[in-house]
Amino acid sequence: MSEPLIIEYSSPGRKTGLLPEIDLPDKDRALSEYISEDYLRKEEPRFPEVSEVDVVRHYTLLSQKNYGLDTGIYPLESGTMKYNPKINEDIANLDRFKFLHPYQDEKLVQGSLEILYGLKEYLAEISGMDEVTLQPASGAHGEFAGLLIIKKHFESRGEKRTKVIVPDSAHGTNPASAAMAGFQVIEIESNLKGMVDIEKLKEIVNEDVAALMLTNPNTLGIFEKDIMKIAEIVHQAGGLLYYDGANMNAIMGYARPGDMNFDVMHFNLHKTFSTPHGGGGPGSGPVGVKEFLKPYLPVPVLSRRKIGEMTEYCWDYDRPDSIGKIHTFYGNYAVLLKAYSYIRCLGAGGLKASTENAVLNANYLKEKLKDEFLLPYQEDSLHEFVLSGLKQKEMGIPALQIAKRLLDYGQYAPTIYFPLVVKEAMMVEPTETESLRTLDKFVETMKIISREIKEKPELVKNAPQLTPVKKLDEVKAAREPDLRW
Ligand SMILES: *Cc1c(COP(=O)(O)O)cnc(C)c1O
Repeated sequence: MSEPLIIEYSSPGRKTGLLPEIDLPDKDRALSEYISEDYLRKEEPRFPEVSEVDVVRHYTLLSQKNYGLDTGIYPLESGTMKYNPKINEDIANLDRFKFLHPYQDEKLVQGSLEILYGLKEYLAEISGMDEVTLQPASGAHGEFAGLLIIKKHFESRGEKRTKVIVPDSAHGTNPASAAMAGFQVIEIESNLKGMVDIEKLKEIVNEDVAALMLTNPNTLGIFEKDIMKIAEIVHQAGGLLYYDGANMNAIMGYARPGDMNFDVMHFNLHKTFSTPHGGGGPGSGPVGVKEFLKPYLPVPVLSRRKIGEMTEYCWDYDRPDSIGKIHTFYGNYAVLLKAYSYIRCLGAGGLKASTENAVLNANYLKEKLKDEFLLPYQEDSLHEFVLSGLKQKEMGIPALQIAKRLLDYGQYAPTIYFPLVVKEAMMVEPTETESLRTLDKFVETMKIISREIKEKPELVKNAPQLTPVKKLDEVKAAREPDLRW
C-alpha cells in the first residue's frame, strides 16, 4: 500500500502534454524586460515532471487509502457527517452559476439573487427567525457575527454587558467566539440529567450578562425541556439568547429556535443542508435574528422591492447601525446553492422525514449499544447520544483505542473525549442517511471490539494494524510529522 510522493516519480523531461513552441516574435526577449528582477525566481521551481499515467495512478491510489462518506458511516458528533446527494453538487456546478462573477451588475444576476433571497426565506421559516444573513462562512464565523450583533445591540442602548454564559457541554467554538467578540466567558455546569441547571442559572444571571449560548438538543443529544424557563430567566435579566444551530437536523420541521424565544442563531449549512465537509471547508453559517436585531446585520443586506409588476433584488449597503462587513462579497455562494437545492428537493415533508430518521437512527444505536458500554445520561436523546468507555478503561483499554480498532474494521469512529463532561466519552451521531444495514454493521463491530477487549485485548491495544498508516506514537507524529505516508 505504500505510495511515494508525486515528486519521487519525477524524471527530467517527462511530461503529460506537448505544448506548441511559443510563436511570439519577441520570444527571446529576457523575462526581466517584463517583470522586475526582484520578482523573478533565482532557481527553477521543483515541480514534479511526470506522465499522465503517473498522475492518474498516484491519485487513484491515494483516494483508495482515504475514508469518507462515499465509503461508509461517519458517526462524528453534532458534525452531521451525512451523505450529501450528488445532485446538489451537480447543480452548484452548472456553468450558469459557476461562471458568475460577484462584481457583475445586480441587474444581470437577478436569478441568482432570487435564489439567495429564497434561501433566506426558507431558513427564516425553518428556524422561526425574522431575518437571515447568508454571509458567515462557518458555524464559528456565524457565532462571531451573532455575538457582534448582540454587542452592538447593547452598545446602541448604552448598556455595558460584558459576560456570555456557556454550558460546560458546549462546543469549543462557543466560548472561543464569545472571547473573540470581547466578552468574558462564564461556564455553567450541567445538572445530573445533562441539562442546564436552572437554579445555577438564576444565580449567575445578572445585568452584566449579554447572552446565554445554547444548542438544543445540546451536545449530549438531550433536548433542554426547560428552554422556555431558561429564556425567561435570561430575558428578565435583560440578556439575549443565542442558539447554536449545529443540531438543527434533530428538530427541523418539528420545533423552531425562534419559537423557543432565541434571539440570534446560526445554521451550519454544511452540516444540516448538504455540503460535504470535514476537510476544512468551504462551509456556510448563516445567522438568523429577531426583528429588533435587524439593523445590526452585516452589510450588504439582500433586499427585494416591487417596481410595478417587476420584482427587483438588490444589495442594500445603507445600514448605518450594521456591524459592518464580515465576508468578501456575499458568502460562500456554491454552499448556499447546495442548501437551496437540498431544501427544494426535500420539501417541507422531506425535511421533517430527515429529522425523524436522524432521531430514529440515533435511538436505535443507543438501544443496541447501551448494555455493552455505559450510558451516562438516561434522558431521551434525539439525533446523537454519548456512551462512556469507562468499563473498558478499567480493563485497560481507553476510548481512543476503541476508536482506532473501528478503523481496522473499515468503519469510522465516533467523536471521543467530547463532551468534556463525560469520562471516556464516545459520542455517536449516525445521521439520517444511514440504512438499517449500516447501523447493524456498526453495532456488530462495536460488540466484536467489546468482546476483544475481554478476550484478546492486545488486538485493540495495538490498533490500528490494517490501515495504510498503522498505530502511531501520537506525540511523535504531531512533533515530527512524516508526510511521506
Ligand atoms: C460544528 C459545530 C460548531 C462549529 O461549526 P463550524 O461550522 O465547524 O465552525 C459549533 N457548535 C456545534 C455544536 C457544532 O457541532
